[in-house]
Amino acid sequence: MLRSALVSGLTIQLLVLAVFALDVTQFPDDNQHFNRTLAGIMRPRVVGTNGHKEVENFIKRELNTLGFSTEVDQFSERVPILGNVTFTNIIGVLNPNARDFLALACHYDSKYFQDDPGFVAAIDSAVPCATMLNTAKTLSSYLLGDFKDRSDIGLMLIFFDGEEAIKDWSDTDSIYGSRHLAAKLSNTRTSGGLGRSIDRIEVLVLLDLIGAANPKFYSFYPNTYGLHHSLSEIELSLSADRKLEGKNLMFMRRPSTGFIDDDHRPFLQQNVPVLHLITTPFPPQWHTPNDNAANLHWPSIRNFNKIFRAFVYEYLKRHKEQVNLRAAFR
Ligand SMILES: [Zn+2]
Repeated sequence: MLRSALVSGLTIQLLVLAVFALDVTQFPDDNQHFNRTLAGIMRPRVVGTNGHKEVENFIKRELNTLGFSTEVDQFSERVPILGNVTFTNIIGVLNPNARDFLALACHYDSKYFQDDPGFVAAIDSAVPCATMLNTAKTLSSYLLGDFKDRSDIGLMLIFFDGEEAIKDWSDTDSIYGSRHLAAKLSNTRTSGGLGRSIDRIEVLVLLDLIGAANPKFYSFYPNTYGLHHSLSEIELSLSADRKLEGKNLMFMRRPSTGFIDDDHRPFLQQNVPVLHLITTPFPPQWHTPNDNAANLHWPSIRNFNKIFRAFVYEYLKRHKEQVNLRAAFR
């Protein structure tokens, strides 16, 4: 009872995010940038391979071009089949000295398949990575203008390495990068710009399995239901304004029926509020050779990019004071 009262209070507070969503039309699509970025990422990129190194460098270069300062979190670990490999999480930050952060995240590694060395992992997660960079690109006049040097809120783009299990998904063979980064950010002795910054993440928005037809996103956590609802509000208002392609709505105003293990788990365990944007049911091409460019559904991708861009813009623009979604679960 107490919990639901608190949650509905927060929901009302966060709904404010969506009311003037159409403001975002001042930030037009840049599909050329999206396509170019996706092409740079959507290639085999299993940890330890040249393709992986080249995608890592590509993401770092893109972040620098977009005005982000970048840090890497690099570590070596022994994994099944491949032996000792070096993982590299990439973190791009705007306003690194801000009190709190909105963190957007995805994973850039592709899954290892012994009999499919050409696996490009389009929805899993080349598209989410390209969407994050495209969001920064299309909002760059705001991010490098009014937003710059804000002391209340910064923006963090996290590209996790090693999300995929090398052999079979388990607690030890999966989410290598996010387990390492969450531990590092929660260690008070971590030096450098991001020391003890896990408490400064207001919400971790994790994008995964995006780019197939008929995406449906449900709300996984009560404390971020308000934010999920804001995405739905933005979708409806853009749709009413005929700014979206087709009639399918992707943001379902309903809780999900279960938990999906993913890069957010180590952050969740540190009480970081999580908005998990993963399509359920999983698209049929997931972890098959069909997860490639030919099976991407462009109208859904373009719609998602528009909605997500509006959401990020509204969150940052409307941010005045700390959004404490942690309180609801203490
Ligand atoms: Zn996967």
